[in-house]
Amino acid sequence: MVQNSDIVYSASQHIDRLMRRVVLLLCGAGVLSVLAIWHMEAVDGTLEPFNRVGYPAMVLVFSAGFLALWRFPAVLPWVRWAGFLTICAVLMIDLWGQTHESGPLLDNYNALTLWNWLPLCYAMAFFMLQSRHAFIAAATMLAFFAWCTIMRSTAGTPYAMQDRSLMINTLISHAVLVSCLSGLAWLKHVVSVQGEQATRLNRLAATDPLTGLANRRQTLELLEQLARESRVERSPVLMLCDLDHFKNINDGWGHAMGDQVLVAVANALRASTRDSDAVARWGGEEFLIVLPDTRDADPAELAERLRTRVAALQVADRHQCPVPVTLSIGIARLGAGEPGASWLKRSDDALYRAKSEGRNCCRMAEPPEE
Ligand code: GH3
Ligand code: MG
Ligand code: MG
Repeated sequence: MVQNSDIVYSASQHIDRLMRRVVLLLCGAGVLSVLAIWHMEAVDGTLEPFNRVGYPAMVLVFSAGFLALWRFPAVLPWVRWAGFLTICAVLMIDLWGQTHESGPLLDNYNALTLWNWLPLCYAMAFFMLQSRHAFIAAATMLAFFAWCTIMRSTAGTPYAMQDRSLMINTLISHAVLVSCLSGLAWLKHVVSVQGEQATRLNRLAATDPLTGLANRRQTLELLEQLARESRVERSPVLMLCDLDHFKNINDGWGHAMGDQVLVAVANALRASTRDSDAVARWGGEEFLIVLPDTRDADPAELAERLRTRVAALQVADRHQCPVPVTLSIGIARLGAGEPGASWLKRSDDALYRAKSEGRNCCRMAEPPEE
């Protein structure tokens, strides 16, 4: 069903939903991969002492992140940070521990294994963090790894990438990888800034600045869509509302008071309708309410409720004198196969009848001609 809130398209909400699914997937895959590696190393007897703590910690953080994100989407930023920090912490403590063990632990195999995992950290950083933080994190990790490995080699030990050209190649390829990821992150940043601007412009183009309601252009599209879909079994209804003798308010109390009345009426109409209904400012002091589905409600009753609520509005001038506000409403139910323009015209005719029959009342439109 078309919702009032759906009228404004929000790109950032869409990206958030997508990001949530990807992080859920990463957490799930993280738990399974750590369990698999843990099991493999335990069977082979190659489980490092540190990983007896590191692997359970990763499984714990990823599964807690998965469950929290599944139940509460708002925790997304926390899960992203926690996931990233856990992987980095485990990898760095592992490396630090191995380079400071007394035994010859950081041999070529171990060093290369850890270096092979490093790109995962860069990717996680650029995916999980904002671009600037991600660049700093990736560069710091690269520097830390390089330092640990070089310190080990220059200490004259036969371990840790003693092959100089392997060392240089690894360092250069990692630096290139971090640069490429930084470029991609910068592009992502530019695209998302432009996306936000487009969303803001969309919102501005769709909203009436005085009342915050949807504007005529936006609502016309919704109305045409409903007429095209022609779901008459749902009894879509239009209510065209026009304030009575509004010119008198402008002339007697001034334009600013006129604006205040328009805002009060807009709020009253929005508060009295459902989220699934669209309330729009149709023109100067005219409002259009689109009810896409009235199977469980009587539109005539709703219109009457709106009319009495507006008539009861307590708008007062600076001397606390009440400003009289009333509303006339024309109601039209969509006919089978009826075009949007005809549907709208019938609601306008019904409004005209309400005006000519004394104002402050509601009138139902004649059914469309066959
Ligand atoms: P009726 O009962 O026949 O509808 O009488 P009316 O005085 O409301 O008639 P009309 O539609 O001719 O007057 C509408 C007035 O609304 C004229 C215009 O100056 C005023 N108006 C239109 N837009 C705004 C606005 O944004 N703010 C204010 N304060 N007045 C507006
Ligand atoms: Mg008018
Ligand atoms: Mg009027």
